[in-house]
Amino acid sequence: MCAQNDNSISYQKLLEGNQKFVADALKIDPDYFAKLAKGQSPPVLWIGCADSRVPANQITNTKPGEIFVHRNIANMVIHTDMNMLSVLDYAVNVLKVKHVIVTGHYGCGGVIAAMSNKEFGLIDNWLRHIKDVYRLHADELVAIEDEQERVDRLVELNVIENVYNLCKTTIVQNAWANGQDLSVHGWVYSIETGIIKDMEVSTTDNGKMESVFRFSPPAP
Ligand SMILES: [Zn+2]
Repeated sequence: MCAQNDNSISYQKLLEGNQKFVADALKIDPDYFAKLAKGQSPPVLWIGCADSRVPANQITNTKPGEIFVHRNIANMVIHTDMNMLSVLDYAVNVLKVKHVIVTGHYGCGGVIAAMSNKEFGLIDNWLRHIKDVYRLHADELVAIEDEQERVDRLVELNVIENVYNLCKTTIVQNAWANGQDLSVHGWVYSIETGIIKDMEVSTTDNGKMESVFRFSPPAP
């Protein structure tokens, strides 16, 4: 028999935590899992960072069944990412979500790494997309002297650009063209305060989009 190390203790803790979760849920509602098993119709798709400190349900005080979730490093919307596109397509066209929210967070390791000149390996190819956001907003970012503030602003700009990336997908534009009720939003979460900042870039049509990205005129 192996001696338990810290890793196996934390692993075992998860299974014990699951038992507690089940017991607590059943205490409140004996039909809790039976109801959840019938299906899902979440009104929201969340595209967030994989960071362990930014769990969609906990920070929005929502429960299982309320948010459809996709997470990756630095909450990116990359137009060749089949994983993200599949989640988006299913959320919009099958689940008929009403809101898609890109949620970044201050202190994002992916954004900090992208701002550096260090080589991290395979992930550099992913982080390149954040460097592209930096390039698009270089004038504004270079003018910010405080490094922390510059990182914070790139986190915000990265969310805004990824909201625009979502709007540019055929999935979102076709939903709008078909008159589907769909809004796209950008948020930034502060791990230090727990507060979400709305970047106020909510979009419900492609009216303001550069024409080269439009697949159809805005819905009437
Ligand atoms: Zn992050």
